Amino acid sequence: MKKLRVGILGATGTVGQGMIQLLERHPWFEVSTVAASDNSAGKNYAQATRWGLETPIPEPVARMTVQPCQPGLDCDFVLSGLPSSVAEETELQMAKAGLAVVTNAGSHRMKADVPLVIPEINPDHLDALDLQKKRIGSRGFIVTNPNCSAIGLVFPIAALDRKFKLEAVHVVTMQALSGAGYPGVASLDIIDNVLPAIDMGGEDRKIETESLKILGRWRDNQFVNAPIRMSAMTHRVNVRDGHLEAVSVKLGTKASREQVEAAIRDFTSPIDELALPSAPKPVMILESHVQRPQPRLDRDRGQGMAIVVGPVSACGVLDYKFRVLSHNTIRGAAGAAILNAELMYRKSLIG
Ligand code: NAP
Repeated sequence: MKKLRVGILGATGTVGQGMIQLLERHPWFEVSTVAASDNSAGKNYAQATRWGLETPIPEPVARMTVQPCQPGLDCDFVLSGLPSSVAEETELQMAKAGLAVVTNAGSHRMKADVPLVIPEINPDHLDALDLQKKRIGSRGFIVTNPNCSAIGLVFPIAALDRKFKLEAVHVVTMQALSGAGYPGVASLDIIDNVLPAIDMGGEDRKIETESLKILGRWRDNQFVNAPIRMSAMTHRVNVRDGHLEAVSVKLGTKASREQVEAAIRDFTSPIDELALPSAPKPVMILESHVQRPQPRLDRDRGQGMAIVVGPVSACGVLDYKFRVLSHNTIRGAAGAAILNAELMYRKSLIG
């Protein structure tokens, strides 16, 4: 099979490196070009990047010359790990030039015709692309994956909403340092410390708004948010990778603790039949030990693509509470974008 050629925008960054690593032996896709800022453009990739992963830079990529992030890249579609400030305009230009753009950046996620997709949860949101292509006036388009904490949270709450109609969700996050990119948070700020309200509270709002869009419906040419009351409080903690979240939920219908755990454990996904190469099986793991999940022990489960949920217990304020962990740079970023591209390939939206 001839592989599709992928361009990586923001290839020298944390997420870009993750995408290059995950694509090294991908059965359908291969990296054909790498692009980054003007500081890196023109340099050899191995010189331009501060490679931070344990496996070496894949040989063909190490020798590539970094390109500027402009239309005209030698590829069939692009995966983007650009900062939001840059992504807004650059990704739109790429889409206008006819490329499919699959992005981690936040700038387009909440737009009225831009799908914010987790393949196992809302693959049907890709239907919004017809409208988006008309607006852009191109066969190119933009598909986004969610904020790295929203993605872990949405799995168990989607399972519970499906069975019991959720009324309210309260979440407190403990987010890893790699979520802030490189060099990220200053060491003197984070050693012996926890930093509340990531992005001055912007991260709290992203989790609240993005989760409701993902759990909502694409109906009559618009996204209709899920009618759930949602409150998020975010914190940066001194952990390298893996976002842990403490979640309390209020159910719309009565259920026992065993029924709530069963809903999480028995979650099935609409893409199970598609055999996407990066889709973990099972996608959600319910742990029975009260001190799990832990970032160091559980973040790499399912090659970093599985969501690990701790045991469910009664909540004295809402109905039930539990913890959830996801690998922020894999399931929350690089792997999420690749999985979205695999879904789009299966649906003949790329290639
Ligand atoms: P990062 O490590 O800071 O990397 C940023 C990348 O963008 C680098 O390749 C950089 O190139 C490039 N870049 C910066 N300014 C540019 C410009 N003006 N023009 C073209 N390229 C430019 O950031 P990151 O952590 O990988 O995050 C990338 C995106 O993913 C962000 O939007 C972030 O919010 C999102 N995200 C990150 C995570 C995570 O866990 N880290 C999770 C979910 C989503 P140079 O090396 O040349 O400067």
